[in-house]
Amino acid sequence: MSGNSHRDGTVPENRLRHALEASGQRYTEQRAAVYRYLLDTGDHPSADAVFTSVRQVIPDISLATVYKALETLVSCGLASKLTYGDGSARYDGRTEPHPHARCLVCGRIRDLPGHLDTGAIAELGQVPGFSVEGYRLEVLGVCDSC
Ligand code: ZN
Ligand code: MN
Repeated sequence: MSGNSHRDGTVPENRLRHALEASGQRYTEQRAAVYRYLLDTGDHPSADAVFTSVRQVIPDISLATVYKALETLVSCGLASKLTYGDGSARYDGRTEPHPHARCLVCGRIRDLPGHLDTGAIAELGQVPGFSVEGYRLEVLGVCDSC
C-alpha cells in the first residue's frame, strides 16, 4: 500500500482524526476508507467511482455515505473538489495548489509533475482591489485511451 505515510510524514489516519476532530466531526471507518482511497489513487475519482472501490472494502457502505464522507473531507481541508460545468464533481486527496491535465473527451484528470512559481502567477498581472491567494491551472488535451 502506498498510502501509509503522507508527504508531511504523518500517518493518514492520525491526520484524518485530528482534522475531523478540529472541525467537530467524528472519525469513522467509512471516512477513513474513503480518505485512504483518495490518497492511494492517482485518479481524481467521482463519488460513484469512490463508491465502487470502497464498497470492495466495506460492502455495506452506501453511495450517500460515500458522498457525505467526501464532502466532510473537503470541508475539513483534507481533499479538494473539482467541479465542472456539466455538474460532475471529482475529488482529489491533494489540497495544495497543483496543475492538472484534463482529457476533453473522457474527462479523465491527472496531476502534472511540475508547479508554477509565484513569478509566473505575477506575470498574469493584477486585478485592482484583488489579492491573489492561490491558483487553479488545468491543461486541456486528449488522453491516450481516447
Ligand atoms: Zn480521455
Ligand atoms: Mn490532483
